[in-house]
Amino acid sequence: MYNTIETPNDATLLLDLEGLHVVKVERGDDGYRAVHVLTSDDTARACPTCGAFSVTVKDRKITRPRDLCAGGRPFTLLWHKVRWSCRESLCPRKSFTEQISQVAAGMRTTARLRGACGRAIADGGRTVAQAARDHRLSWPIAMRELRRYAAEVLPEEPEPTPVIGIDEIRRGRPRWEQNPDTGKYVLVADRWHVGFTDIAGGQGLLGQVEGRVSTTVATWLNARPQAWRMAVTHVAIDMCQTFRCAVRAALPHAVIVVDHFHLVQLANSKLAELRRRLTWKMRDRRGRAGDPEYDHRRLLRSNREDLTDDHLAVLERDLNRIGTYGRHILAGWHAKEKLRHLLALARTNPPRSVIAHRLHAFYAWCADHAYLPELITLAESVASWWAEIEAFLLTGISNAKSEGTNRVIKLEARCAYGFRNPINQRLRSRCATTRGSRNRSVPA
Ligand SMILES: [Zn+2]
Repeated sequence: MYNTIETPNDATLLLDLEGLHVVKVERGDDGYRAVHVLTSDDTARACPTCGAFSVTVKDRKITRPRDLCAGGRPFTLLWHKVRWSCRESLCPRKSFTEQISQVAAGMRTTARLRGACGRAIADGGRTVAQAARDHRLSWPIAMRELRRYAAEVLPEEPEPTPVIGIDEIRRGRPRWEQNPDTGKYVLVADRWHVGFTDIAGGQGLLGQVEGRVSTTVATWLNARPQAWRMAVTHVAIDMCQTFRCAVRAALPHAVIVVDHFHLVQLANSKLAELRRRLTWKMRDRRGRAGDPEYDHRRLLRSNREDLTDDHLAVLERDLNRIGTYGRHILAGWHAKEKLRHLLALARTNPPRSVIAHRLHAFYAWCADHAYLPELITLAESVASWWAEIEAFLLTGISNAKSEGTNRVIKLEARCAYGFRNPINQRLRSRCATTRGSRNRSVPA
């Protein structure tokens, strides 16, 4: 049989399955193409136990391994296989069937079909169920191929990077249950993941841990090699005491940075708190349309540079018209803008004197309005995080990449209609968030 195969014909080249030779392609009664192939790899004659080449045919049979689609449509591969007898007297094996690198003995699918399925999930954004359907495989096989592919392409240890970001993300929805005795609802499940993102380089999500307590974060950091930990110079976090403790314990040499995003968010929430409290105080009810401070709540949230002079004039006129409480709300707005004015120094290479001047202006404003507890809380938060905020003003490092990573993780979870298994979720999240950086270096 082997001497009939000399050079690969066109159909063999088109199929491109190493070790197999196409002898005939026909249209079957079911409308699918049937591709008849023979083994062209001479080493398939070698006994897998003793290695001796066999010349004695025991019998012939046809197997139908599933392969990738050709021309966008599936086809039936009919492999006319030989079962050889091993005549070596010392060999315990009496017979063996042919196998090639793409189809090992006993396999009913080609390695490239399974590989494509794993890649479709990890890099193609496909769900496991959909990739399994597309590749005519079962869900467990598709999942196994994802794990295999991920183990191949995801580095076991992240590359050293000078800046990392730490951020938390909720896993699924919190679950509440009613206590039958008190009738009150209590939180029974609220699961979180904490992610570590490469901020300086393009490695994406470096790892995730379950839970959001200080020790789990520190454990992950401590598990990295010494060289990797020493390479980290800056860590971006949001204003979370847990992360600050963990980083100080695990990476004592690294500078912690808190960016402007969460600070401005805090300032805005304090301003809204102040507005709601004063509304209750003066009207004895919550705000509603027709109340100037309620009507202008969006203007209050706006940044000064996004407001026209007319908008600002209207805001000031209407709030001043309310009287003392209106002026207090206006004072809250000015406190937020003074904090933003300070934060705007980031990435401008500011001299320390300018930073000190603007910080003082913000503190002085809050101190002048010390009868507003919301401003005092805001100023205290800034004071307790000042080292980290100053590091942001001097370096301009932000945790935006971590937030971007979280967006991708959420998208992946929504596409999968949620995850039951947190280990699978972490694997899928890691594949999704490193997809871009991995595929840049892989040739098409
Ligand atoms: Zn043998």
